[in-house]
Amino acid sequence: MQPRDLSAHAPYVPGRGTEEVARELGMDPEDLTKLSSNENPHGPSPKAVAAIEDAAPTVSVYPKTAHTDLTERLADKWGLEAEQVWVSPGADGSIDYLTRAMLEPDDRILEPSPGFSYYSMSARYHHGDAAQYEVSKGDDFDQTADLVLDAYDGERMVYLTTPHNPTGSVLPRDELVELAESVEDHTLLVVDEAYGEFAEEPSAIDLLSEYDNIAVLRTFSKAYGLAGLRIGYACVPEAWADAYARVNTPFAASEVACRAALAALDDEEHVEKSVESARWSRAYLREHLDAPTWESEGNFVLVEVGDATAVTEAAQREGVIVRDCGSFGLPECIRVSCGTEAQTKRAVDVLNRIVSEVPPA
Ligand SMILES: *Cc1c(COP(=O)(O)O)cnc(C)c1O
Repeated sequence: MQPRDLSAHAPYVPGRGTEEVARELGMDPEDLTKLSSNENPHGPSPKAVAAIEDAAPTVSVYPKTAHTDLTERLADKWGLEAEQVWVSPGADGSIDYLTRAMLEPDDRILEPSPGFSYYSMSARYHHGDAAQYEVSKGDDFDQTADLVLDAYDGERMVYLTTPHNPTGSVLPRDELVELAESVEDHTLLVVDEAYGEFAEEPSAIDLLSEYDNIAVLRTFSKAYGLAGLRIGYACVPEAWADAYARVNTPFAASEVACRAALAALDDEEHVEKSVESARWSRAYLREHLDAPTWESEGNFVLVEVGDATAVTEAAQREGVIVRDCGSFGLPECIRVSCGTEAQTKRAVDVLNRIVSEVPPA
């Protein structure tokens, strides 16, 4: 017995975890600074923690009200109808729901390269295929409508990541509007705003009232500090919002996750503090790292270090975990997530020492 041919399906490569690295190096996880997965260094909101504790005794029941409450709350926040909010296990779950709703077998998606690997993974799970547009270092990873349109060949879905992972660049709003007006009628633009809270640019969600070919992804994993709960959502145009009922996995998001997300939405102070902290950290990283960096609107900074694998390994031995961008197709770069003040300074000290010692690749 064997599963179907999965040779075209590459496994997702996550940033390395503290437990994993600590075990490997025989170190105490407490002594590690983990800046590899763009998580919130301030943790979840205390209100979310309390909501998680309060929800614990109720988890024998399928989540229904919590899911409805969260959907309505988000619709209210963004000025949408409730059916336009597709709650899902992480934004990754929304990617799957959109793929299920859009792709026929052999349909293609168009995605940025370098980029977030789950877009094409999801397309392939659904018997589709993926093509790429190049967000190139030579242009400082600038994102424009022309760049996407040059590569565009009538794909069913086009992913736009803004702020972009792993580079931090943004797709300006007028470029998005140009795309919405330029692509063929059957093409959906999926605007991934996983890092939207950290950016100066406003969300594209308000464009849903004008365009029926834009969907926007949002998550509680980054600015809201709930990555471990797996909760996110897509905002979609009213015209086809009812597809959710036909494609979502029953009880898509857990009771605990929905309750925590509701509580997190009530704690604006925590989000503001998290965003402010990330903006400070990314500016500090750019100013003090002795290596080329790029302007970032996310909670991370891309750094050119020469041999990323050697630098990542050396930093890890010193207790600082960063992301080797080899799996993104940038083997000369690392991505450093924004930490607390102490974590950020430690990362800069350690990386500067290493970069001065590790010869370029
Ligand atoms: C982190 C991330 C996501 C979604 O993460 P979830 O934890 O599934 O919500 C989506 N897109 C990009 C570009 C990301 O970096």
